[in-house]
Amino acid sequence: MTIPSAIKKISDTVWELPTSYKAGMLVPARIIATEKLIGTMDAGVFDQVTNVACLPGIINYAYCMPDGHWGYGFPIGGVAAMDPETGVISPGGIGFDINCGMRLVLTNLTYDEVKPHLRELVDALFYRIPTGVGCTGFVRCSQDEFRNVVEQGSRWCLKHGYAWPEDLEMTEEGGCFPGADASKVSHKAIERGYDQVGTLGSGNHYCEIQVARPENIYDEETARAFGFTIPNQVAIMFHCGSRGFGHQVATDYLQIFLGVMERKYGIKVLDRELSCAPFHSPEGQDYFAAMKCAVNMAFANRQVILHRIREVFSAVFHKDPEELGMRMVYDVAHNTAKLEKHTVAGKKREVLIHRKGSTRAFGPGMEGIPDCYRETGQPVIIGGSMETGSYLLAGMKSGAETFFSTAHGSGRTMSRHQAKKMIRGQKLQRDMEERGIYVRTDSWGGLAEEAGAAYKDIDDVVAATELAGLSKRVVRLVPVGNIKG
Ligand code: 5GP
Ligand code: MN
Ligand code: MN
Repeated sequence: MTIPSAIKKISDTVWELPTSYKAGMLVPARIIATEKLIGTMDAGVFDQVTNVACLPGIINYAYCMPDGHWGYGFPIGGVAAMDPETGVISPGGIGFDINCGMRLVLTNLTYDEVKPHLRELVDALFYRIPTGVGCTGFVRCSQDEFRNVVEQGSRWCLKHGYAWPEDLEMTEEGGCFPGADASKVSHKAIERGYDQVGTLGSGNHYCEIQVARPENIYDEETARAFGFTIPNQVAIMFHCGSRGFGHQVATDYLQIFLGVMERKYGIKVLDRELSCAPFHSPEGQDYFAAMKCAVNMAFANRQVILHRIREVFSAVFHKDPEELGMRMVYDVAHNTAKLEKHTVAGKKREVLIHRKGSTRAFGPGMEGIPDCYRETGQPVIIGGSMETGSYLLAGMKSGAETFFSTAHGSGRTMSRHQAKKMIRGQKLQRDMEERGIYVRTDSWGGLAEEAGAAYKDIDDVVAATELAGLSKRVVRLVPVGNIKG
């Protein structure tokens, strides 16, 4: 591995590349990782995080989380806070899958109760939740109605019978970023998105049935507050975003920014993929309003999928979803830019935070998290892999260092291409079934790309976030069923 020799070890979990590392760096870059994990970072991470450190208006540090790996412009796992007055907004700092995120739903069923129905459940989920690249959803809405969806997010779902009122409370920002403006979105984006509400998509998007084994409860009290009260309780975790809609919004504005960045605003970047505009420019504000539409589309998408999941469990167990205790633990994004208030140089002020493959992790007592989590801190939902396990964590008071941001998954170590060469999808499915994990997929190649071996060790990643004081372990969840995009 090629760790730059200029890197300084600040602590057991913080590594720094100083501004002298590369011409143009305005702040140092910091990578949150243990000694073991820093060795697994691909070389692209060091290059990209220091490119981000050159962006106008960046505050304190450019960060990369322990699950970091190479991405478009920013590393995946990248965090950058900008001064809203002098700084830029960059689509590469948010990702193409705007508001890709994770949602965790409880049941009051135990694994023993679910086991006899596992195949039926997974098959029904696979049948009811569209998966695959261009899949379309069951929500029939016109392109005009879709404009309401993207401006209202989960609120639209509540009005149309796809949500419980409390679902909105358990969603970051209530499931709607205010200020979304559909007039800032291209016709092409609307065309790509209007029939995709309630779809999982492809690749690493998934809907997984998981078990909280007693030996995997790390913090009993917080686990209880998050709704884990029964030994071997079953939960459902799912991961998806804004589908073709968000992708088109990102594509459109990357192009617009490339046209004005240097010519109109005199901004030079080290990599075209860091295409950006001043946050306060008309172009920057238009993107912000369009990006919020994609954020809301993703919240609505996950809300409709939750509705489907409740229907499936209800049909299989012949009980209402309420009787089955199918409450949301939380829904949290990992690809967004947001205005948030943070303490910078001793003063509370508004900053524009880019989190790309990074999860907001507000600590206890902070504004913006549901009342029931005030004492515990915000639930943080982190995927591991379909083979190994995933985590429910809680935000910590000490998270201020990274503007209360943490990891979002385990992060890839193997390229998709390499994984497909090494692993056969059909064999993997059979092997997993023998180990008690029943998985359905649209694509054998896609399944091979997602093998546990293609990812970093999730236990290492979450341990690093805890050691760094960003998020602490509450429950480790093991997979028993999965539908993959
Ligand atoms: P992203 O695509 O948002 O960058 O990464 C999502 C994260 O979810 C990955 O880093 C990986 O750790 C995790 N992940 C991917 N596929 C699965 C899956 O099928 N099940 C679980 N539990 N986690 C997954
Ligand atoms: Mn995604
Ligand atoms: Mn994601």
